[in-house]
Amino acid sequence: MDFLPVSLRVRDARVLLVGAGQVATRKARLLLRAGARLTVVAPRCSEELQALLNDSGGSWQRESYRASQLDGAILVVAATPLREVNEQVYRDASARQLPVNVVDAPDLCTFIFPAIVERTPLTIAISSGGSSPVLVRLLRRKIEAMVPAAYGSLALFAGRLRDVVKNAIPAQEPRRLFWEQVIEGAAGELVLAGEEQRAETRLRQQLEDTDALHRGEVYLLGAGPGDPDLMTFKAQRLLQSADVVLYDRLVAPGIVEMARRDAQRIYVGKARSAHAVPQQEINQMLLSLAQQGKRVVRLKGGDPFVFGRGGEEIELLAQHGIPFQVIPGITAANAAACYAGIPLTHRDYAQSVRFVAGHLKDDTPGHAWADFHSETETLVFYMGLVGLPVICEQLQRHGRAPQTPIALVERATSPAQRVLTGTLATMVDIVHREQPRAPTLIIVGDVVRLHSRLAWFGKRLPAD
Ligand code: SAH
Repeated sequence: MDFLPVSLRVRDARVLLVGAGQVATRKARLLLRAGARLTVVAPRCSEELQALLNDSGGSWQRESYRASQLDGAILVVAATPLREVNEQVYRDASARQLPVNVVDAPDLCTFIFPAIVERTPLTIAISSGGSSPVLVRLLRRKIEAMVPAAYGSLALFAGRLRDVVKNAIPAQEPRRLFWEQVIEGAAGELVLAGEEQRAETRLRQQLEDTDALHRGEVYLLGAGPGDPDLMTFKAQRLLQSADVVLYDRLVAPGIVEMARRDAQRIYVGKARSAHAVPQQEINQMLLSLAQQGKRVVRLKGGDPFVFGRGGEEIELLAQHGIPFQVIPGITAANAAACYAGIPLTHRDYAQSVRFVAGHLKDDTPGHAWADFHSETETLVFYMGLVGLPVICEQLQRHGRAPQTPIALVERATSPAQRVLTGTLATMVDIVHREQPRAPTLIIVGDVVRLHSRLAWFGKRLPAD
Protein backbone atom coordinates (compact mmCIF):
# COMPACT_ATOMS: atom_id res chain seq x y z
CA MET A 1 0.00 0.00 0.00
CA ASP A 2 1.63 3.23 -1.15
CA PHE A 3 -0.96 5.62 0.25
CA LEU A 4 -2.74 5.39 3.58
CA PRO A 5 -6.45 6.09 3.26
CA VAL A 6 -7.61 8.54 5.92
CA SER A 7 -10.56 10.92 6.07
CA LEU A 8 -9.36 14.42 6.80
CA ARG A 9 -11.36 17.13 8.53
CA VAL A 10 -10.82 20.31 6.55
CA ARG A 11 -13.84 22.25 7.78
CA ASP A 12 -12.86 25.89 8.41
CA ALA A 13 -9.21 25.09 7.79
CA ARG A 14 -7.16 27.01 5.24
CA VAL A 15 -6.53 25.06 2.03
CA LEU A 16 -4.51 26.53 -0.81
CA LEU A 17 -5.39 25.80 -4.42
CA VAL A 18 -2.89 26.96 -7.03
CA GLY A 19 -4.56 27.29 -10.41
CA ALA A 20 -8.06 28.14 -11.54
CA GLY A 21 -8.74 26.14 -14.68
CA GLN A 22 -11.34 23.41 -15.16
CA VAL A 23 -9.52 20.77 -13.17
CA ALA A 24 -8.88 23.24 -10.36
CA THR A 25 -12.57 24.13 -10.35
CA ARG A 26 -13.47 20.48 -9.84
CA LYS A 27 -11.09 20.22 -6.91
CA ALA A 28 -12.41 23.50 -5.50
CA ARG A 29 -15.94 22.17 -5.57
CA LEU A 30 -14.89 19.06 -3.66
CA LEU A 31 -12.87 20.96 -1.06
CA LEU A 32 -15.71 23.44 -0.53
CA ARG A 33 -18.18 20.60 -0.07
CA ALA A 34 -16.04 19.38 2.78
CA GLY A 35 -16.16 22.89 4.29
CA ALA A 36 -12.59 24.04 3.59
CA ARG A 37 -11.70 27.73 3.83
CA LEU A 38 -10.35 27.85 0.33
CA THR A 39 -7.84 30.29 -1.12
CA VAL A 40 -7.30 30.14 -4.86
CA VAL A 41 -4.11 31.62 -6.27
CA ALA A 42 -4.08 32.37 -10.00
CA PRO A 43 -3.64 35.30 -12.34
CA ARG A 44 -7.00 34.54 -13.96
CA CYS A 45 -10.12 32.86 -12.64
CA SER A 46 -13.29 31.75 -14.42
CA GLU A 47 -16.60 33.35 -13.42
CA GLU A 48 -17.85 29.94 -12.40
CA LEU A 49 -15.07 29.50 -9.87
CA GLN A 50 -15.41 33.08 -8.64
CA ALA A 51 -19.10 32.50 -7.99
CA LEU A 52 -18.33 29.26 -6.16
CA LEU A 53 -15.84 31.04 -3.95
CA ASN A 54 -18.24 33.91 -3.27
CA ASP A 55 -20.98 31.52 -2.22
CA SER A 56 -18.80 29.70 0.24
CA GLY A 57 -16.60 32.33 1.83
CA GLY A 58 -13.54 31.35 -0.19
CA SER A 59 -11.20 33.86 -1.75
CA TRP A 60 -9.27 34.44 -4.93
CA GLN A 61 -5.81 36.01 -4.85
CA ARG A 62 -5.18 37.45 -8.26
CA GLU A 63 -1.45 36.89 -8.38
CA SER A 64 1.24 34.41 -9.24
CA TYR A 65 2.23 31.69 -6.82
CA ARG A 66 4.66 32.54 -3.99
CA ALA A 67 5.82 30.21 -1.20
CA SER A 68 4.57 32.61 1.49
CA GLN A 69 0.99 31.82 0.41
CA LEU A 70 1.43 28.43 2.03
CA ASP A 71 1.48 30.03 5.46
CA GLY A 72 -1.26 28.69 7.66
CA ALA A 73 -2.52 26.14 5.13
CA ILE A 74 -3.10 22.52 6.15
CA LEU A 75 -3.23 21.21 2.57
CA VAL A 76 -2.16 22.42 -0.82
CA VAL A 77 -3.34 21.43 -4.27
CA ALA A 78 -1.63 22.51 -7.48
CA ALA A 79 -3.52 22.36 -10.76
CA THR A 80 -1.81 24.80 -13.08
CA PRO A 81 -0.94 23.96 -16.68
CA LEU A 82 2.69 24.90 -15.96
CA ARG A 83 4.93 22.04 -14.82
CA GLU A 84 7.54 24.46 -13.31
CA VAL A 85 4.94 26.10 -11.10
CA ASN A 86 3.52 22.74 -10.03
CA GLU A 87 7.02 21.47 -9.22
CA GLN A 88 7.79 24.60 -7.24
CA VAL A 89 4.62 24.16 -5.19
CA TYR A 90 5.55 20.55 -4.57
CA ARG A 91 9.08 21.45 -3.42
CA ASP A 92 7.94 24.29 -1.14
CA ALA A 93 5.18 22.24 0.43
CA SER A 94 7.42 19.22 0.94
CA ALA A 95 10.03 21.41 2.64
CA ARG A 96 7.32 22.48 5.07
CA GLN A 97 6.01 18.91 5.44
CA LEU A 98 2.71 20.13 4.15
CA PRO A 99 0.56 17.51 2.36
CA VAL A 100 0.54 18.37 -1.33
CA ASN A 101 -1.27 17.12 -4.39
CA VAL A 102 -0.33 18.02 -7.92
CA VAL A 103 -3.20 17.02 -10.16
CA ASP A 104 -2.34 14.29 -12.67
CA ALA A 105 1.27 14.00 -11.49
CA PRO A 106 1.51 11.11 -9.02
CA ASP A 107 5.26 11.70 -8.58
CA LEU A 108 4.49 15.18 -7.22
CA CYS A 109 1.94 14.07 -4.65
CA THR A 110 2.27 13.29 -0.99
CA PHE A 111 -1.47 12.67 -0.91
CA ILE A 112 -3.97 11.75 -3.60
CA PHE A 113 -7.70 12.20 -3.97
CA PRO A 114 -9.53 8.89 -4.10
CA ALA A 115 -12.62 8.50 -6.25
CA ILE A 116 -15.61 8.74 -3.97
CA VAL A 117 -19.10 7.40 -3.72
CA GLU A 118 -21.04 9.83 -1.59
CA ARG A 119 -23.98 8.94 0.55
CA THR A 120 -23.32 11.66 3.08
CA PRO A 121 -22.40 11.11 5.83
CA LEU A 122 -21.33 7.78 4.40
CA THR A 123 -18.36 8.13 2.06
CA ILE A 124 -16.67 5.32 0.17
CA ALA A 125 -13.21 6.09 -1.16
CA ILE A 126 -11.50 4.09 -3.92
CA SER A 127 -7.92 4.46 -5.03
CA SER A 128 -5.45 2.55 -7.16
CA GLY A 129 -2.55 4.58 -5.83
CA GLY A 130 -2.48 6.41 -9.14
CA SER A 131 -1.95 3.30 -11.27
CA SER A 132 -5.30 3.02 -13.05
CA PRO A 133 -7.83 5.83 -12.85
CA VAL A 134 -10.01 4.02 -15.40
CA LEU A 135 -10.24 0.90 -13.30
CA VAL A 136 -11.10 3.05 -10.31
CA ARG A 137 -13.83 4.79 -12.27
CA LEU A 138 -15.35 1.47 -13.36
CA LEU A 139 -15.27 0.16 -9.83
CA ARG A 140 -16.85 3.33 -8.58
CA ARG A 141 -19.69 2.87 -11.03
CA LYS A 142 -20.27 -0.61 -9.67
CA ILE A 143 -20.35 0.57 -6.09
CA GLU A 144 -22.65 3.44 -7.03
CA ALA A 145 -25.10 0.86 -8.36
CA MET A 146 -24.72 -1.39 -5.33
CA VAL A 147 -25.16 1.02 -2.47
CA PRO A 148 -28.74 2.22 -2.14
CA ALA A 149 -29.06 6.02 -2.26
CA ALA A 150 -30.83 5.95 1.09
CA TYR A 151 -27.79 4.55 2.91
CA GLY A 152 -26.92 8.11 3.82
CA SER A 153 -30.19 8.37 5.73
CA LEU A 154 -29.38 5.10 7.42
CA ALA A 155 -26.01 6.43 8.56
CA LEU A 156 -27.63 9.64 9.83
CA PHE A 157 -30.30 7.65 11.64
CA ALA A 158 -27.69 5.47 13.34
CA GLY A 159 -25.63 8.54 14.23
CA ARG A 160 -28.61 10.26 15.81
CA LEU A 161 -29.47 7.27 18.00
CA ARG A 162 -25.94 6.21 18.76
CA ASP A 163 -25.86 7.57 22.30
CA VAL A 164 -29.34 6.28 23.12
CA VAL A 165 -28.22 2.78 22.20
CA LYS A 166 -24.87 3.16 23.92
CA ASN A 167 -26.55 4.06 27.20
CA ALA A 168 -29.00 1.19 26.95
CA ILE A 169 -26.40 -1.44 25.96
CA PRO A 170 -23.04 -0.45 27.43
CA ALA A 171 -21.24 -3.69 26.51
CA GLN A 172 -19.63 -3.53 23.09
CA GLU A 173 -20.31 -6.96 21.60
CA PRO A 174 -24.08 -7.10 22.29
CA ARG A 175 -24.27 -3.51 21.08
CA ARG A 176 -22.64 -4.41 17.78
CA LEU A 177 -25.09 -7.27 17.42
CA PHE A 178 -27.97 -4.96 18.21
CA TRP A 179 -26.91 -2.48 15.54
CA GLU A 180 -26.50 -5.25 13.00
CA GLN A 181 -30.03 -6.38 13.70
CA VAL A 182 -31.36 -2.86 13.45
CA ILE A 183 -29.58 -1.99 10.23
CA GLU A 184 -30.31 -5.26 8.49
CA GLY A 185 -33.67 -5.86 10.08
CA ALA A 186 -37.06 -4.22 9.93
CA ALA A 187 -35.92 -0.87 11.37
CA GLY A 188 -33.21 -0.50 8.73
CA GLU A 189 -35.64 -1.39 5.98
CA LEU A 190 -38.04 1.26 7.29
CA VAL A 191 -35.32 3.93 7.11
CA LEU A 192 -34.52 2.89 3.55
CA ALA A 193 -38.20 3.25 2.77
CA GLY A 194 -38.16 6.81 4.17
CA GLU A 195 -40.14 6.01 7.32
CA GLU A 196 -37.73 7.25 9.95
CA GLN A 197 -40.29 7.85 12.67
CA ARG A 198 -41.57 4.30 12.52
CA ALA A 199 -38.02 3.05 12.34
CA GLU A 200 -37.14 4.88 15.54
CA THR A 201 -40.19 3.51 17.32
CA ARG A 202 -39.17 0.05 16.24
CA LEU A 203 -35.60 0.54 17.42
CA ARG A 204 -36.76 1.75 20.83
CA GLN A 205 -39.06 -1.27 21.14
CA GLN A 206 -36.17 -3.55 20.33
CA LEU A 207 -34.08 -1.83 23.01
CA GLU A 208 -36.68 -2.60 25.64
CA ASP A 209 -37.27 -6.15 24.51
CA THR A 210 -33.82 -7.55 25.25
CA ASP A 211 -35.01 -11.03 24.31
CA ALA A 212 -35.22 -9.81 20.75
CA LEU A 213 -31.43 -9.61 20.74
CA HIS A 214 -31.23 -13.35 21.10
CA ARG A 215 -33.98 -14.17 18.67
CA GLY A 216 -32.88 -15.66 15.40
CA GLU A 217 -34.17 -14.91 11.96
CA VAL A 218 -34.41 -16.86 8.73
CA TYR A 219 -33.92 -15.54 5.21
CA LEU A 220 -35.10 -17.69 2.38
CA LEU A 221 -33.03 -16.43 -0.52
CA GLY A 222 -33.49 -16.99 -4.21
CA ALA A 223 -29.96 -17.66 -5.45
CA GLY A 224 -30.91 -17.58 -9.13
CA PRO A 225 -29.74 -20.10 -11.71
CA GLY A 226 -26.06 -20.24 -10.71
CA ASP A 227 -24.09 -17.18 -11.78
CA PRO A 228 -23.62 -15.01 -8.64
CA ASP A 229 -24.10 -11.92 -10.81
CA LEU A 230 -27.68 -13.00 -11.33
CA MET A 231 -28.59 -12.68 -7.65
CA THR A 232 -30.35 -9.61 -6.31
CA PHE A 233 -28.42 -7.06 -4.28
CA LYS A 234 -30.69 -7.79 -1.37
CA ALA A 235 -30.05 -11.53 -1.46
CA GLN A 236 -26.29 -10.86 -1.53
CA ARG A 237 -26.55 -8.44 1.38
CA LEU A 238 -28.56 -10.86 3.52
CA LEU A 239 -26.28 -13.76 2.60
CA GLN A 240 -23.31 -11.84 3.88
CA SER A 241 -25.05 -11.27 7.19
CA ALA A 242 -25.70 -14.96 7.85
CA ASP A 243 -24.31 -16.98 10.77
CA VAL A 244 -25.41 -20.23 9.14
CA VAL A 245 -26.05 -21.04 5.49
CA LEU A 246 -28.07 -24.06 4.33
CA TYR A 247 -27.70 -24.87 0.65
CA ASP A 248 -28.34 -27.66 -1.77
CA ARG A 249 -27.16 -29.11 -5.04
CA LEU A 250 -28.71 -26.46 -7.25
CA VAL A 251 -26.80 -23.61 -5.62
CA ALA A 252 -23.48 -22.86 -7.34
CA PRO A 253 -20.35 -22.98 -5.15
CA GLY A 254 -19.50 -19.38 -6.10
CA ILE A 255 -22.64 -18.24 -4.34
CA VAL A 256 -22.04 -20.20 -1.16
CA GLU A 257 -18.55 -18.68 -1.05
CA MET A 258 -20.06 -15.23 -0.81
CA ALA A 259 -21.11 -15.94 2.77
CA ARG A 260 -18.96 -14.55 5.60
CA ARG A 261 -15.82 -16.57 6.08
CA ASP A 262 -16.79 -17.56 9.62
CA ALA A 263 -20.34 -18.53 8.68
CA GLN A 264 -21.27 -22.17 9.19
CA ARG A 265 -22.21 -23.89 5.93
CA ILE A 266 -24.55 -26.86 5.93
CA TYR A 267 -25.16 -28.96 2.82
CA VAL A 268 -28.67 -30.31 2.66
CA GLY A 269 -28.40 -31.27 -1.01
CA LYS A 270 -31.12 -32.98 -2.84
CA ALA A 271 -30.55 -35.30 -5.73
CA ARG A 272 -33.61 -36.53 -7.58
CA SER A 273 -35.45 -39.18 -5.58
CA ALA A 274 -32.52 -39.45 -3.12
CA HIS A 275 -33.05 -36.59 -0.72
CA ALA A 276 -29.84 -36.18 1.27
CA VAL A 277 -31.76 -34.55 4.09
CA PRO A 278 -35.51 -35.13 4.14
CA GLN A 279 -37.57 -31.98 3.72
CA GLN A 280 -39.05 -32.19 7.19
CA GLU A 281 -35.62 -32.35 8.70
CA ILE A 282 -34.60 -29.20 6.80
CA ASN A 283 -37.68 -27.41 8.09
CA GLN A 284 -36.85 -28.52 11.61
CA MET A 285 -33.21 -27.50 11.23
CA LEU A 286 -34.17 -23.98 10.17
CA LEU A 287 -36.43 -23.71 13.20
CA SER A 288 -33.96 -24.91 15.78
CA LEU A 289 -31.06 -22.81 14.42
CA ALA A 290 -33.25 -19.72 14.59
CA GLN A 291 -34.33 -20.66 18.10
CA GLN A 292 -30.65 -20.74 19.08
CA GLY A 293 -30.52 -17.08 18.07
CA LYS A 294 -28.75 -17.63 14.76
CA ARG A 295 -29.26 -15.64 11.63
CA VAL A 296 -30.00 -18.39 9.17
CA VAL A 297 -29.92 -18.20 5.40
CA ARG A 298 -31.58 -20.89 3.36
CA LEU A 299 -30.30 -20.63 -0.19
CA LYS A 300 -32.66 -21.90 -2.86
CA GLY A 301 -31.76 -22.37 -6.49
CA GLY A 302 -33.74 -20.03 -8.74
CA ASP A 303 -36.72 -18.58 -6.93
CA PRO A 304 -37.81 -19.93 -3.53
CA PHE A 305 -41.47 -19.93 -4.49
CA VAL A 306 -41.18 -21.64 -7.85
CA PHE A 307 -41.00 -25.42 -7.35
CA GLY A 308 -38.74 -24.71 -4.42
CA ARG A 309 -40.83 -25.91 -1.48
CA GLY A 310 -40.08 -22.52 0.05
CA GLY A 311 -43.64 -22.30 1.30
CA GLU A 312 -43.24 -25.47 3.35
CA GLU A 313 -39.97 -24.32 4.86
CA ILE A 314 -41.37 -21.12 6.28
CA GLU A 315 -44.68 -22.53 7.42
CA LEU A 316 -43.11 -24.07 10.49
CA LEU A 317 -41.27 -20.81 11.22
CA ALA A 318 -44.51 -18.87 10.96
CA GLN A 319 -46.16 -21.27 13.42
CA HIS A 320 -43.38 -20.62 15.93
CA GLY A 321 -43.27 -16.86 15.49
CA ILE A 322 -39.74 -16.80 14.01
CA PRO A 323 -39.22 -13.68 11.88
CA PHE A 324 -38.34 -14.44 8.26
CA GLN A 325 -37.96 -12.80 4.88
CA VAL A 326 -38.35 -14.35 1.45
CA ILE A 327 -36.27 -12.79 -1.32
CA PRO A 328 -37.07 -13.61 -4.92
CA GLY A 329 -34.54 -15.00 -7.34
CA ILE A 330 -34.37 -15.45 -11.09
CA THR A 331 -36.17 -18.68 -11.72
CA ALA A 332 -34.78 -21.27 -14.16
CA ALA A 333 -37.48 -20.51 -16.74
CA ASN A 334 -36.49 -16.87 -16.98
CA ALA A 335 -32.80 -17.58 -16.88
CA ALA A 336 -32.86 -20.40 -19.43
CA ALA A 337 -35.14 -18.45 -21.75
CA CYS A 338 -32.92 -15.35 -21.80
CA TYR A 339 -29.65 -17.27 -22.06
CA ALA A 340 -31.01 -19.49 -24.83
CA GLY A 341 -32.52 -16.61 -26.80
CA ILE A 342 -36.07 -17.95 -26.46
CA PRO A 343 -38.53 -15.24 -25.39
CA LEU A 344 -41.23 -16.85 -23.25
CA THR A 345 -43.87 -14.61 -24.78
CA HIS A 346 -43.87 -12.93 -28.16
CA ARG A 347 -46.47 -10.88 -29.97
CA ASP A 348 -46.52 -13.26 -32.92
CA TYR A 349 -46.14 -16.60 -31.16
CA ALA A 350 -47.26 -16.73 -27.55
CA GLN A 351 -49.49 -14.61 -25.36
CA SER A 352 -49.13 -16.63 -22.19
CA VAL A 353 -46.66 -18.89 -20.48
CA ARG A 354 -47.19 -21.73 -18.03
CA PHE A 355 -44.65 -23.20 -15.61
CA VAL A 356 -45.28 -26.91 -15.17
CA ALA A 357 -43.72 -29.53 -12.89
CA GLY A 358 -42.34 -32.30 -15.10
CA HIS A 359 -42.88 -34.84 -12.40
CA LEU A 360 -45.34 -34.83 -9.56
CA LYS A 361 -45.00 -35.87 -5.96
CA ASP A 362 -45.48 -39.55 -6.77
CA ASP A 363 -43.27 -39.27 -9.86
CA THR A 364 -46.08 -39.60 -12.41
CA PRO A 365 -46.78 -36.54 -14.49
CA GLY A 366 -50.53 -36.72 -14.01
CA HIS A 367 -51.42 -33.32 -15.36
CA ALA A 368 -54.61 -32.10 -16.86
CA TRP A 369 -52.98 -32.47 -20.30
CA ALA A 370 -56.09 -31.23 -22.03
CA ASP A 371 -55.35 -27.76 -20.63
CA PHE A 372 -52.06 -27.57 -22.51
CA HIS A 373 -53.38 -27.64 -26.05
CA SER A 374 -53.28 -23.90 -26.79
CA GLU A 375 -50.79 -23.11 -29.51
CA THR A 376 -50.34 -19.56 -28.27
CA GLU A 377 -49.17 -20.66 -24.85
CA THR A 378 -45.54 -21.43 -24.08
CA LEU A 379 -45.07 -24.37 -21.73
CA VAL A 380 -42.04 -24.60 -19.49
CA PHE A 381 -41.37 -27.90 -17.78
CA TYR A 382 -39.15 -28.00 -14.71
CA MET A 383 -37.74 -31.37 -13.60
CA GLY A 384 -38.79 -32.82 -16.94
CA LEU A 385 -35.83 -34.81 -18.20
CA VAL A 386 -36.96 -38.20 -16.94
CA GLY A 387 -40.57 -37.56 -17.91
CA LEU A 388 -39.72 -36.20 -21.37
CA PRO A 389 -41.14 -39.16 -23.35
CA VAL A 390 -44.42 -38.89 -21.43
CA ILE A 391 -44.53 -35.11 -21.92
CA CYS A 392 -43.97 -35.32 -25.68
CA GLU A 393 -46.45 -38.11 -26.10
CA GLN A 394 -49.22 -36.61 -23.97
CA LEU A 395 -48.95 -33.18 -25.55
CA GLN A 396 -49.40 -34.70 -28.99
CA ARG A 397 -52.25 -36.85 -27.82
CA HIS A 398 -53.98 -33.76 -26.44
CA GLY A 399 -53.86 -31.60 -29.51
CA ARG A 400 -50.35 -30.23 -29.96
CA ALA A 401 -48.95 -30.84 -33.44
CA PRO A 402 -46.00 -33.24 -33.75
CA GLN A 403 -44.02 -30.41 -35.41
CA THR A 404 -44.41 -28.17 -32.33
CA PRO A 405 -40.93 -26.87 -31.55
CA ILE A 406 -39.34 -27.88 -28.27
CA ALA A 407 -36.06 -26.92 -26.64
CA LEU A 408 -34.14 -28.51 -23.84
CA VAL A 409 -31.78 -26.14 -22.04
CA GLU A 410 -29.06 -27.96 -20.17
CA ARG A 411 -27.31 -26.27 -17.22
CA ALA A 412 -28.60 -22.84 -18.19
CA THR A 413 -26.36 -19.79 -17.64
CA SER A 414 -23.32 -21.92 -16.79
CA PRO A 415 -20.32 -22.13 -19.12
CA ALA A 416 -21.50 -25.68 -19.89
CA GLN A 417 -24.91 -24.54 -21.14
CA ARG A 418 -26.26 -26.46 -24.14
CA VAL A 419 -29.49 -25.96 -26.00
CA LEU A 420 -31.03 -28.91 -27.85
CA THR A 421 -33.91 -28.13 -30.18
CA GLY A 422 -36.31 -30.34 -32.08
CA THR A 423 -40.01 -31.10 -32.25
CA LEU A 424 -42.40 -33.06 -30.08
CA ALA A 425 -41.91 -35.90 -32.55
CA THR A 426 -38.10 -35.88 -32.58
CA MET A 427 -36.97 -34.69 -29.16
CA VAL A 428 -36.93 -38.04 -27.39
CA ASP A 429 -34.43 -39.40 -29.93
CA ILE A 430 -32.31 -36.27 -29.77
CA VAL A 431 -32.08 -36.49 -25.99
CA HIS A 432 -31.29 -40.16 -26.19
CA ARG A 433 -28.42 -39.37 -28.50
CA GLU A 434 -27.07 -36.26 -26.73
CA GLN A 435 -27.47 -37.46 -23.12
CA PRO A 436 -27.84 -34.03 -21.51
CA ARG A 437 -27.01 -33.66 -17.82
CA ALA A 438 -29.21 -32.18 -15.11
CA PRO A 439 -30.42 -29.63 -14.43
CA THR A 440 -32.39 -29.22 -17.61
CA LEU A 441 -35.40 -27.17 -18.51
CA ILE A 442 -37.86 -27.85 -21.31
CA ILE A 443 -39.57 -25.15 -23.34
CA VAL A 444 -42.41 -26.01 -25.70
CA GLY A 445 -44.04 -23.71 -28.26
CA ASP A 446 -43.46 -21.63 -31.36
CA VAL A 447 -41.20 -19.20 -29.47
CA VAL A 448 -38.50 -21.89 -29.69
CA ARG A 449 -38.14 -20.98 -33.40
CA LEU A 450 -36.51 -17.71 -32.32
CA HIS A 451 -33.58 -19.52 -30.75
CA SER A 452 -31.66 -19.87 -34.01
CA ARG A 453 -31.73 -16.09 -34.47
CA LEU A 454 -31.59 -14.80 -30.90
CA ALA A 455 -29.13 -17.14 -29.20
CA TRP A 456 -26.23 -15.11 -27.88
CA PHE A 457 -24.74 -16.81 -24.85
CA GLY A 458 -21.53 -18.73 -25.45
CA LYS A 459 -21.37 -17.49 -29.03
CA ARG A 460 -18.26 -15.83 -30.31
CA LEU A 461 -18.58 -12.47 -31.96
CA PRO A 462 -17.79 -12.53 -35.69
CA ALA A 463 -14.66 -10.47 -34.97
CA ASP A 464 -13.25 -13.03 -32.51
N1 SAH B 1 -36.69 -23.03 -7.48
C1 SAH B 1 -36.03 -23.38 -8.72
C2 SAH B 1 -36.54 -24.66 -9.31
C3 SAH B 1 -36.27 -25.87 -8.49
S1 SAH B 1 -36.87 -27.35 -9.23
C4 SAH B 1 -36.16 -22.23 -9.71
O1 SAH B 1 -36.93 -21.31 -9.47
O2 SAH B 1 -35.48 -22.26 -10.72
C5 SAH B 1 -35.43 -27.93 -10.03
C6 SAH B 1 -35.57 -27.81 -11.54
O3 SAH B 1 -35.28 -26.48 -11.94
C7 SAH B 1 -34.59 -28.64 -12.30
O4 SAH B 1 -35.05 -29.96 -12.43
C8 SAH B 1 -34.58 -27.94 -13.64
O5 SAH B 1 -35.69 -28.27 -14.41
C9 SAH B 1 -34.73 -26.50 -13.23
N2 SAH B 1 -33.44 -25.79 -13.19
C10 SAH B 1 -32.87 -25.19 -12.14
N3 SAH B 1 -31.71 -24.61 -12.46
C11 SAH B 1 -31.53 -24.84 -13.77
C12 SAH B 1 -30.52 -24.50 -14.71
N4 SAH B 1 -29.43 -23.80 -14.36
N5 SAH B 1 -30.66 -24.91 -15.99
C13 SAH B 1 -31.75 -25.61 -16.38
N6 SAH B 1 -32.73 -25.96 -15.53
C14 SAH B 1 -32.63 -25.59 -14.25
